[in-house]
Amino acid sequence: MGYSREVYEEAMAELDQRRMLARQKAAELRDRMVAKYPRILELEREMANAAIKVARAVLAGEDVDRAVEKIKNQNLMQQAELAEILAKEGIYTPNFEPRYHCPACQDTGVVNNKTCDCLKILLREIAYKRLSYPGMAKDMDFEKLRLDYYPNEPDSRTGIIPRRHMKEIIEYCKNYAEDFDCNSPSLLLRGATGTGKTHVSLSIAKVAIDKGFGVIYGPVQKLLHKIEKEHFGRADGNSEDMMIECDLLILDDLGTEFSSPFYTSCLYNLINSRILDGKPTIISTNFNQNELMERYGEQITSRIIGNFVPLTFVGKDIRQIRLRDKIHNNGE
Ligand SMILES: [Zn+2]
Repeated sequence: MGYSREVYEEAMAELDQRRMLARQKAAELRDRMVAKYPRILELEREMANAAIKVARAVLAGEDVDRAVEKIKNQNLMQQAELAEILAKEGIYTPNFEPRYHCPACQDTGVVNNKTCDCLKILLREIAYKRLSYPGMAKDMDFEKLRLDYYPNEPDSRTGIIPRRHMKEIIEYCKNYAEDFDCNSPSLLLRGATGTGKTHVSLSIAKVAIDKGFGVIYGPVQKLLHKIEKEHFGRADGNSEDMMIECDLLILDDLGTEFSSPFYTSCLYNLINSRILDGKPTIISTNFNQNELMERYGEQITSRIIGNFVPLTFVGKDIRQIRLRDKIHNNGE
């Protein structure tokens, strides 16, 4: 896949940073060890002079093969002595070689004149991150979800106890995140505003990203707007392809975007392409099935209903409760 110049530049800067850091750490480690064990300097000097020693021996009339063999053995013993000193300190890399993030390309991004896999992964990560909305994911993880925000009394209309119900939903989503792979099912998180849908979907995103999966997440309105700008030539990029190809796509707050035939056809294309490719998508929405049908028509709604696992979020608006708590606490 082609990436923009900015993505390449950011990736190369990251590789430079990794390389520099690995070298700097190795140099610092060496300085520390040399200060503690001055013998290391002697050993290094002797090993560096091996070639000169061979030359001297030969000039002095020694047999070449024997001289090489002798120096080689000395060298091995010096290596072993150095390794032994370092092992005492729990260091197992010989000769203070930098420990690169990617040993294959030594953090240059190129191996055997080809783009190293680490650079491919990095490019993808950066491109997805640039498409996503990291601001909304701040502080969103399962640890920060509070069940006590959900009422513990049965709902007068449905009889459902929100706290108990949400405990099960969150448990399901935690397991979903832990077991996430490219064949995981798609999820439809539905329920009223402020019942934790965005928080849960971004918590899943966080776990999936930490596991190395390519995730794109954002409000539907913003993601579709990006595609629209590119489609009509007002911006460069291939956001739509990336949204189709990523391992997990999270469309937050479906139904709050502007209603337009272009957006509807984009949505259909995103959702349908990912279903055909067997890739998971998570949609959160305030809409129920009838409202989805009314807004998007049969084609999109039937794809969602037929292919997504529905999870219904219940409870009161958590944002309101948080706000009330804040005002209450500040008032004390
Ligand atoms: Zn590499």
